[in-house]
Amino acid sequence: MADKIFLEIVTPEKKVLSETVDIVVAPGEMGEFGVLPGHIPFLAKLKVGELKYRVGGAMQHVAIMGGYAEVLNNQVTILATAAEAAVDIDLIRAKAARERAERRLADSRDKFEFVRAQAALQRALARMRIAERQ
Ligand code: ATP
Repeated sequence: MADKIFLEIVTPEKKVLSETVDIVVAPGEMGEFGVLPGHIPFLAKLKVGELKYRVGGAMQHVAIMGGYAEVLNNQVTILATAAEAAVDIDLIRAKAARERAERRLADSRDKFEFVRAQAALQRALARMRIAERQ
């Protein structure tokens, strides 16, 4: 049995990551889950949050804006709406997005606007959390 996992993260725009790793921890809609080598086949919906993976001793962090994770034959494929590795996150942009979302939340006139602003706020906060931890 292989003792590594091949992790691939793709979005509609680009391939964000393609790497051999030791463990993946993903933000599942039903809760965070970890994948080690030899994991059974598995499909999960992801929420906005943080995906972590370890290569050797170093834990790496990726912002995931929701999507799906497929685990099959020691490969984890993440199909994300959007995703950025910690180093690629523009913190100033994320802070501006948070301020915009907070204003929209306060000014929202219906449930639809409120829910959209709430989702934008979640994306901004996830990006800020990951970028600020670096
Ligand atoms: P914004 O309002 O700043 O565009 P958003 O949450 O609406 O934020 P998304 O729709 O999730 O943005 O993403 C659109 C594209 O912009 C994606 O390619 C995503 O990776 C990228 N992106 C969004 N915010 C950032 C950021 N702070 N740093 C780096 N890339 C970002």
